[in-house]
Amino acid sequence: MIDFMKQIKVDQDTCIGCGSCVSLAEKTFKLNENGKSTPIDPAEDSEEAIQGAIDSCPVTAISWMEETND
Ligand code: SF4
Repeated sequence: MIDFMKQIKVDQDTCIGCGSCVSLAEKTFKLNENGKSTPIDPAEDSEEAIQGAIDSCPVTAISWMEETND
């Protein structure tokens, strides 16, 4: 399980909807009605699976987003 404060961001303008991230971390990503990947719940997949999905993205649309509340 990953730190729940860690969030995933998918750049909707960059994503080409190839589905790679969805197949590698299916609990974290899904394709939305526009055919683009959308983060669902990053706490449900291992950090390794999510990192694999990030690394597999052909257009580098996925990134970690650290929440800063201070
Ligand atoms: Fe979009 Fe990248 Fe996921 Fe492919 S791997 S669906 S381009 S975010």
